[in-house]
Amino acid sequence: MPMDFKTTEEIKVPKKLIDQIIGQDKAVKLAKMAIQNRRHLLLIGPPGTGKSMLAKAMAELLPKEGLEDFLAFPNPKDEFQPIIKTVPAGEGKKIVERSKIAALNALKGKNQLTAIIALIALLMPFYFYYTGEKILAAASMIMSSILLVGLSLGFNVMNKRKLLESIPKLLIDNSDKKHAPFVDATGANPSQLFGNVLHDPFQSGGLETPAHHRVVPGLIHKAHKGVLFIDEIATLPWDVQYELLVAMQEKKYPIFGRDERSGGSIVRTTPAPCDFILVAAGTEEAIKNMHPALRSRIKGNGFEVYMNEDMPDTPENREKLARFVAQEIMRDGKIPHFTRDAVEEIINIAKKLAGREGYLTLRLRELGGYVRLAGDIAKSKGKKYVTKEDVIEAERIGQSIEEQIVERIKELRRRYDIVIKEGYEIGRANGIGVIGNKGVIIPIDVNVAYGNGKIITSGILGKIAEQAIKTIEGYVKSVFGKDIKEYDIYVQFVQTYEEIEGDSASLAIALATISALTKTPLDQSFVITGSIDVKGRVLPVGGIIPKIEGAIEEGFKNIIIPKQNLKDVPKEYFNNINIYGVSTIDEALNLVGAKPDKKL
Ligand code: ADP
Repeated sequence: MPMDFKTTEEIKVPKKLIDQIIGQDKAVKLAKMAIQNRRHLLLIGPPGTGKSMLAKAMAELLPKEGLEDFLAFPNPKDEFQPIIKTVPAGEGKKIVERSKIAALNALKGKNQLTAIIALIALLMPFYFYYTGEKILAAASMIMSSILLVGLSLGFNVMNKRKLLESIPKLLIDNSDKKHAPFVDATGANPSQLFGNVLHDPFQSGGLETPAHHRVVPGLIHKAHKGVLFIDEIATLPWDVQYELLVAMQEKKYPIFGRDERSGGSIVRTTPAPCDFILVAAGTEEAIKNMHPALRSRIKGNGFEVYMNEDMPDTPENREKLARFVAQEIMRDGKIPHFTRDAVEEIINIAKKLAGREGYLTLRLRELGGYVRLAGDIAKSKGKKYVTKEDVIEAERIGQSIEEQIVERIKELRRRYDIVIKEGYEIGRANGIGVIGNKGVIIPIDVNVAYGNGKIITSGILGKIAEQAIKTIEGYVKSVFGKDIKEYDIYVQFVQTYEEIEGDSASLAIALATISALTKTPLDQSFVITGSIDVKGRVLPVGGIIPKIEGAIEEGFKNIIIPKQNLKDVPKEYFNNINIYGVSTIDEALNLVGAKPDKKL
């Protein structure tokens, strides 16, 4: 029986992290395969869908056996090349302990010798004094004072250095690891990622800390035999991505000083093992900027996986979300359990966040935020269980920062009448974007002048505009007999500072451009969303529900959306605004009245 529970207390949460992952079956399957064959993974998808969770779950599944400790030893042949050795986990500590004891014992012997010399030095003046050799007595008195001061000063420092010189440094201690390491290297700089050799302020006189004690391991070494997770992989500079690739290929990589002005920069260890599984992640857009060599390495020796953004709204999937609520409560450890009504309200939020009819969101980090907020609200009221009212309150006050920004933008635009909702205008169209989960009108202004085919754009949407105009080049020529190359085209996004995803503004940009080129006015009561291809077809876009909601809220009468998106629209929306599904630019032009009767 689906949803057959009174409170989330009754829901069993799987022990293993991998079994807690919801809605990402393909990614889970490939992750299991990657573990078996030690392959790398590239996870592509929006934030908060479980990418780092999956990487962590993989580390949990890797065998704990075979983990190693890392030690740095001095190199008798080359003081600037410390030797890196690995030993079974737990051995590292013991080796360091043993060599400490041995070194201290050796020092004890030396200390005894020093004491004897000091005693002789002290007795000499007395001996000469009693034998009557007064000059010798005075001379030996001075000599022995100098000797004693020298011994006590010098020995202290020298002893310390001697001690350090003979004791290895434990770089990585895996003695208490319960499973293979999971290392999150997101945002790490090169010295954190690959290790470093620290600078020593006392560089001369033989008093400096020996090189092997200044070696610091990198995250790639800490991830040895485990998982190295790097989110936003494409933001790493290309030289760093390339270095990572080299380390992955070699499975070992020396540690060297990375600050050129420091004394550490002349030190380079022998190669240190770094045999890890790389789980790299990023959004689809960002992955395009990844170093091609690194990407093809992962492709050739691993898998690329797309994370799901939503899942069909079925009884099974609703049940999974109920389990998700139980999981988040367990993970949080402080909030009360949810009643069934409260869980159903969370599922309602999941529906809204999905942004299309018949689906539930898998952006579960965001959804988890609502679970915790509702939990905190119930707790502050001293309630035993979280109820529906708490979730509704959480939704009300949990309006995301983005949504607050949208409210502010709308208010400003209203105040200055920036959005035109009536009448006809040449070269102007109302696009719409999504920020957070809210639709925001993007007024687009296009001007044309005779020129030589330049496209001049402003703002963040510049690239999308350029692309859109290039896309309609052929279309405009064949339909209107005009060659875009004879004009310079200026595209302005009126008062738009926000970013929008993908190219869903391209239909609106195309319509405004055609209107400007043909001097045909456009009906301003339309909001337009859709992306286009070179053949003049209109392709589906994301965020349809928030876009329609945004258009309704702004008081628009009509909205044009891609025909294929019609199925994402819940029925009740059709009562509040005229929704037109189009599959070609032509259809859209006919609707907004810009289609001229004959060629101009
Ligand atoms: P990403 O790495 O994709 O940005 P995370 O793995 O960090 O997202 O997810 C953050 C949190 O959201 C997780 O710790 C977990 O509580 C929850 N979460 C995200 N995705 C899932 C999922 N597919 N199944 C269960 N919980 C999830």
